[in-house]
Amino acid sequence: MIIAIDGPAAAGKGTLARRLAAHLGYAYLDTGLLYRATGWKVLESGADPENPAAAETAARALDPSDLDNPSLRDDGAAQAASKVSAIPAVRAALLDFQRAFARRPPGGAPGAVLDGRDIGTVVCPDAPIKIFLTADTDARAERRLKELRDRGIDAIPARVLQDMKERDGRDMSRANAPLKPASDAFLLDTTDKDADAAFAAALAHIRHDQPTG
Ligand code: C5P
Repeated sequence: MIIAIDGPAAAGKGTLARRLAAHLGYAYLDTGLLYRATGWKVLESGADPENPAAAETAARALDPSDLDNPSLRDDGAAQAASKVSAIPAVRAALLDFQRAFARRPPGGAPGAVLDGRDIGTVVCPDAPIKIFLTADTDARAERRLKELRDRGIDAIPARVLQDMKERDGRDMSRANAPLKPASDAFLLDTTDKDADAAFAAALAHIRHDQPTG
């Protein structure tokens, strides 16, 4: 069983995916972390995240321990991620790992939840459950701001909004695996929904489509 969750930045994908995975006993993969770690590695090496050779080398050298870096949550890593993620060789390098995780979830879990931008369209196009999370840009920027402030980061609202718009614009307009809903995705708008309401709506959809889920 594979559940694919896609959507723009700060739509609540991670919170929902983690909660569904815990509830159903499935394994969870935050695919954004793979791109963030790749972007971070490029920055660390002093190269430009838009340099295809440097970005591909970083993606191929990725090690599970790279994913534990707390700096990956910062906006610098997010911007670098959205630059390396537009490079086809980077996406190709990370594809096998994501598909293997989905097909054979670690720990023998009976299913996997993956969240990202292209899970329902490219990574797992046959996933029986696909959810595309959206929310108004302002609502998403507010959530992102709160998340940063909860982590003790004194972020500037206009800057957070601008960074998010830039990243979404880049993610939607790239030629390779752009951010868009799969034609068979369930669209879930969380503008007026808190995490509990989004979880309840997603679970109702899963149970309706997969009565045993
Ligand atoms: O989800 P998160 O905000 O951590 O993703 C960081 C960036 O990684 C995104 O803005 C996007 O450019 C890229 N990404 C992607 N495909 C995915 C997951 C993330 O291109 N499946």
